[in-house]
Amino acid sequence: MINIYPVQEIFGPTIQGEGPQAGGKTIFVRFAGCDYDCLWCDTQETWKIKDQDRMTAIIILERIEKLNEQGNCNHVTLTGGNPLLYDLEKLVDLLHALDYKVAVETQGSKYKPWIRKVDNIVISPKPPSSSNLKIHESPASADNFRNLYGFFHKLMDENLLEYPVPTDVTIKVPIFNSVDFEWFLKLKNKFAADNTYKWYLSVGNENVREEGSIQERLLQNYEWLVNKVIKSDLIDVYVLPQLHTLIWGNKKGV
Ligand code: SF4
Repeated sequence: MINIYPVQEIFGPTIQGEGPQAGGKTIFVRFAGCDYDCLWCDTQETWKIKDQDRMTAIIILERIEKLNEQGNCNHVTLTGGNPLLYDLEKLVDLLHALDYKVAVETQGSKYKPWIRKVDNIVISPKPPSSSNLKIHESPASADNFRNLYGFFHKLMDENLLEYPVPTDVTIKVPIFNSVDFEWFLKLKNKFAADNTYKWYLSVGNENVREEGSIQERLLQNYEWLVNKVIKSDLIDVYVLPQLHTLIWGNKKGV
């Protein structure tokens, strides 16, 4: 059976704006469809699967190769929406066959075995400010991280021999306010025994529709977050602004 995916956009080469690959060249493939509804989502156009182009893995690869006709990019980022809604194993294999490194960004709500074939895995759990009723319906459910435990258990399961245990796994959390920061401290504490993961904090952009220059607002938020991290007991945590928003503001497809 040939899988056909709803694709919101494919663009690049550009730079990755967040997380451990920040500043590195990549081509983004954004899949439509998400099982969350975060209040400040900057890609709400992906929520409804309707008018997006439908593409097979081969067609996605052809689009990537066309964007990369100069051959000056060797990295592709699969994002969304939530790309883990789909079976993307064939696409990952095709990209690897052409020597692309592959990254994936997901909130960690749905597990698929193919994720273990990806070179850079970025899990981005959503904090309370997302007002995401599916994960924050009560303070208890927000803090016990039971979904994430299940996800990481499968991701790092050494008994799943068909796929290698991934070695490059990042947990990246967007922070919008003090409640989010406290939530992150609990999350980090719960997973503290496991040194497998890289930890990143990303400054939230609370107004994803604001036009024009938003850099000043975002840099103020960044300074606030940096100060929180400096004063906290956190170690081995990296705090970054969203680099793309500092260059292009809320512009899409860049
Ligand atoms: S998980 Fe990501 S794409 Fe989905 S609603 Fe939240 S911010 Fe938007």
